[in-house]
Amino acid sequence: MTQLALIIDLNVCVGCSACVTSCKEWNASGAAGPMTDRDPYGEDPTGTFFNRVQTFEVGTYPHTETVHFPKSCLHCEEPPCVPVCPTGASYKRPEDGIVLVDYDKCIGCKYCAWACPYGAREIDQQQKVMKKCTLCVDRIYDQRLPERERKPACVLACPTSARLFGDVHDPDSEVSRLIREEGGYTLMPEWGTQPANHYLPRRKTHLPIHADELLRADNPLKKEGPRRKPALDEPSLDDVTSW
Ligand code: SF4
Ligand code: SF4
Ligand code: SF4
Repeated sequence: MTQLALIIDLNVCVGCSACVTSCKEWNASGAAGPMTDRDPYGEDPTGTFFNRVQTFEVGTYPHTETVHFPKSCLHCEEPPCVPVCPTGASYKRPEDGIVLVDYDKCIGCKYCAWACPYGAREIDQQQKVMKKCTLCVDRIYDQRLPERERKPACVLACPTSARLFGDVHDPDSEVSRLIREEGGYTLMPEWGTQPANHYLPRRKTHLPIHADELLRADNPLKKEGPRRKPALDEPSLDDVTSW
């Protein structure tokens, strides 16, 4: 069975939120203007987002690091949000594994939001239905779009190519290869939800630089050139016990 998913490379995400704005743009009918749905210039700006970038500071001063962590629905293979839905509005598509909400059946009871351990669902306060990432199901199969654009809006918008999209059940797909080779991991596997989305962990990149080079006007840090691959044989920086 095909299981489509997003793969997020935490090594190159710079937290610019282009994925957030492109997601909002695509899913809110392309309305330009404020990102928030309600009270955009007031005291309590708020709105519904299918994708958010959470930014953390980790470590102990002065050895702190900033981690940008984009998160949307993970399209779990065993999604707890589906069986709790009393109307059958939440469902997982057998043909591609995308978890969706049928807005015509949703009564806004929020049971699914309670069941989702990842906080991926948000109620639309205007339409009073539950919403979440659709994996851009209305884009990826649209034959009217050029083939190269039949990808999620957030994947197309990411300036650093931190977001990849593909079938994680196809061992020959690019995303499966990256998960295998770069040690891709899922969020909170202990819940047994088997998220389809994976994250590629941050790894140290070793740059061979001599002390005298740092003083030079043409500091090699600024030079373009092939960089050594991150050390895959060392523990990644995303071992949560180190955060
Ligand atoms: Fe990170 Fe890409 Fe989203 Fe920017 S667009 S926050 S780089 S995933
Ligand atoms: Fe359901 Fe949450 Fe999993 Fe998405 S991340 S499929 S909303 S349990
Ligand atoms: Fe938003 Fe589509 Fe990306 Fe999901 S796949 S986060 S709906 S842009």
